[in-house]
Amino acid sequence: LYGTERPNSKGVEFGHQASLDALLAEIRQAASQTYRADPLLDGKTASGETRPVVSPIDGTTVAGQVTEATPEVADRAMASARAGFAAWSRTDVETRAQALERAADLLEERRGALLHLLQTEAGKTLDDALSEVREAVDFCRYYAVQGRTLFGSGEPMPGPTGESNVLRLRGRGVFVAISPWNFPLAIFLGQVSAALMAGNTVVAKPAEQTPLIADMAVRILHEAGVGKTALHLVPGDGRVGARLVEHKDVAGVVFTGSTEVARIINRTLAGKDAAIVPLIAETGGINAMIVDATALPEQVADDVVTSAFRSAGQRCSALRLLCVQDDVADRMIEMIAGSARELKLGDPRDVSVHIGPVIDREAKDKLDAHVGAMKRRAKVHYAGTAPAAGTYVAPHIFELNKPHDLAQEVFGPILHVVRYKADRLEEVIQAIEGTGYGLTLGVHSRIDATVNRVVEALSVGNVYVNRNMIGAVVGVQPFGGHGLSGTGPKAGGPHYLLRFATEQTVTINT
Ligand code: GLU
Repeated sequence: LYGTERPNSKGVEFGHQASLDALLAEIRQAASQTYRADPLLDGKTASGETRPVVSPIDGTTVAGQVTEATPEVADRAMASARAGFAAWSRTDVETRAQALERAADLLEERRGALLHLLQTEAGKTLDDALSEVREAVDFCRYYAVQGRTLFGSGEPMPGPTGESNVLRLRGRGVFVAISPWNFPLAIFLGQVSAALMAGNTVVAKPAEQTPLIADMAVRILHEAGVGKTALHLVPGDGRVGARLVEHKDVAGVVFTGSTEVARIINRTLAGKDAAIVPLIAETGGINAMIVDATALPEQVADDVVTSAFRSAGQRCSALRLLCVQDDVADRMIEMIAGSARELKLGDPRDVSVHIGPVIDREAKDKLDAHVGAMKRRAKVHYAGTAPAAGTYVAPHIFELNKPHDLAQEVFGPILHVVRYKADRLEEVIQAIEGTGYGLTLGVHSRIDATVNRVVEALSVGNVYVNRNMIGAVVGVQPFGGHGLSGTGPKAGGPHYLLRFATEQTVTINT
């Protein structure tokens, strides 16, 4: 537990059979229910075209049904959110904070259904799914605590006698929240809860692959006390997102996804004949780990495998490029490949499985094409095998000649390795900086000067020294990157809510 006002959500000891059985029973019970997602405007569903949400586990199981928002419904959602702003922005901070805390409690109570959806809709292992529910709970509680401090009665400023000056924070207006499929609950709720806590109303567009869990999250927030006119849901594809961003009433956009889409959003916002509004973007990275000859090989193997392959490599934070000092490279690579060989791929509902499917056929085809290209161009250190049904991609380890040979983010369980000579560390640093990304970085070294040099030289958002480089914890490792990796705000950090607010100074001649 970290922090006194807000303990982080509790885990479950999988090694304790009775605890694991109880958790599995909760999930089984939830599996017998049916799930659906609909556009939800002012708490009422809107009609549209309905389609099945197909599970990536086998490519045939239907996780639920989604009715997608039309552009016209998206416009109506914006109008509703605009109309709802006056009331929600005036609710007192305590009401908003308590709604988020109540939502956190409900998330914990309904853990079985959330875990079931994270597994069937997003293909997550139980371990990943549970971490995600905990992160979602933590976001709600953390932003509630932060909000109370920041959005209270305002900060008195000094001034001459006879004058009172107060600086206060307020919501901006309608926030559009566009969230990814890789954390369909935690990032969805992280965005939405932050925007709401700051006093904004929200139109949320979940990833088209994962609308069901988003629908459940919105209903939980409403039940917990978030105004029905304050939060609206519009499931749909990129066209719906584009329509929202183009809308004249957008007061801010919070987005997690690709750099390419972040750029499109940025251009759209900039090109409008409307107010200049902020974009909070968290995108990808060509995340590197530097391992020198003083690193502990067993620990490196463990941390590399976790960082590169956990969640099938579908994390923005995941390790893509491992840079190993050449004196120890053969041994390190052999140990990493040995650990990778132990990974079990398959149906993520089997608790012994480490790696589930990638999200959909498109993702698999892209990754398979990359693997094919790498097999022709790079040295293969490890090539796993994947189940035929569903959208599984086996872990691979390729060795490249130089860091520049990896030109773009590869969002899957594929690790690229390069060797460097001890006296060429600066070149490695330059190459990593030269990617233009700046999300996560790992360093394994027992030499303080090396660690300090690397940390100092690289402008990344999250640096992990002598450990794995994924799974940032709310309130412990505020998360987010710079450059091509995003606009910098740190989710789960003390300054995040400020990005969702305007500041107002009130001067009164008393
Ligand atoms: N916060 C997650 C982590 O630290 C990654 C979030 C993402 O993939 O967008 O692993």
